[in-house]
Amino acid sequence: PPDVEQLGRSTWTLLHSIAATYPPTPTPKEQADLKSFMHLFSKLYPCWVCAEDFQAYLRKQEVRTRSRDEFGNWLCEAHNEVNRKLGKPTFDCSKWEERWRTGWKD
Ligand code: FAD
Repeated sequence: PPDVEQLGRSTWTLLHSIAATYPPTPTPKEQADLKSFMHLFSKLYPCWVCAEDFQAYLRKQEVRTRSRDEFGNWLCEAHNEVNRKLGKPTFDCSKWEERWRTGWKD
């Protein structure tokens, strides 16, 4: 099986990049596609314990897709849930766009 840490870093990069390029005002079709993607992703993610916990999280915290801002923050919170589980520091979600879309200013 793939290295869980390397897989995780690459996958968070993909997911946060999807959030960064998601439209500020998505169409109903774009919202439905993102929801489908996240649900299928949670079933196919090739770290089975990770996938089970992520599916449970999706059942508790339904994915929010009404805007880039909403999805970006939802994803940041989901990532923080995994950070907490692993004993990693949590990330300040007011900075997700700076980290993943516009770039740090310094
Ligand atoms: P990562 O957590 O991979 O983060 C990469 C970068 O993202 C960080 O350097 C930081 O700049 C930024 N970042 C950090 N937090 C946030 C945030 N909240 N919002 C936005 N940006 C942020 N590993 C396990 O061992 N067990 C699991 O159950 C598990 N479940 C996972 C579930 C999913 C859906 C995914 C994608 C990964 C999962 N992982 C799991 C992997 C784990 O989350 C990490 O990716 C891995 O441990 C490597 O961590 P890292 O410290 O390199 O940083």
